[in-house]
Amino acid sequence: MSNHEQLRELIQGYALGALDAPERAEIEAHLSSGCSECSKALEEARWLVSQLAYLAPDAKPSDMLKGRLLQTVRAETSTAGDAMLQATSRKAVVPWWMWAGVAALLVFSLYSAWNAQRLQNEIVSLRAQAERQNRERVKLEQEMVAAKVQAHEAMIWSDPKSVKIKLPAKDPNMPQLEAMWHPEMGIVVRGWKVPSLREKRVLQLWLIPKAGGKPMPSMTFWPDANGKFSAVVENPPEEMSDTQALAITEEPVGGSAQPTSTPMWVGGVS
Ligand SMILES: [Zn+2]
Repeated sequence: MSNHEQLRELIQGYALGALDAPERAEIEAHLSSGCSECSKALEEARWLVSQLAYLAPDAKPSDMLKGRLLQTVRAETSTAGDAMLQATSRKAVVPWWMWAGVAALLVFSLYSAWNAQRLQNEIVSLRAQAERQNRERVKLEQEMVAAKVQAHEAMIWSDPKSVKIKLPAKDPNMPQLEAMWHPEMGIVVRGWKVPSLREKRVLQLWLIPKAGGKPMPSMTFWPDANGKFSAVVENPPEEMSDTQALAITEEPVGGSAQPTSTPMWVGGVS
């Protein structure tokens, strides 16, 4: 056949159902004449079009295929308002498997884009959730530690085995402090209406031994904005029976190894 080469180029368009009626008739006539090369090409083109459904959105069909596809889509769009009969007959030209392929391809691209966005959102939301949970966990841990310390203080303060120690102030304008010493649970020192300290200064507790040795350094603390504090020493550096008195001095932040100022409060341990 003389127009074999010419028709051969239209096979893909034919497979897409994108040819006009005369072209289609010509190809069909040629195919029915038994051209095995064109039949094989058509088979391949149909397979290719059906595979479009499974391709990623960026897979590139040939320019000719694209052009024909666009033509088909434009034709469909322009006839959208036309008579039902016309639209139906035009649609009938397009084989079902092509529409299935194109529809699947569209669905697939939309799904991929949507899925990528959804995954992105999910990651962001998971990350925010993890951060929130972490903050909550840290806060909970801090609250638990604070609650534990408070419970420990309350136990020392109320246990009948605890010994009460009054710490009068050297300065008559300063309030008296109170301590409770439990032989196993430790010492709690409490103060109210204590004036705020100078910057970078803390209060430090000392245990004065009976034997007349050096004061044993203990914890540091400072009053809150209302002049209140409650400090607990879980493991005092000395036994109650070996301690003559408790003393409190003002020291630099971090505390000192031995007192660097005269005690502001001193209380004898009976
Ligand atoms: Zn042929």
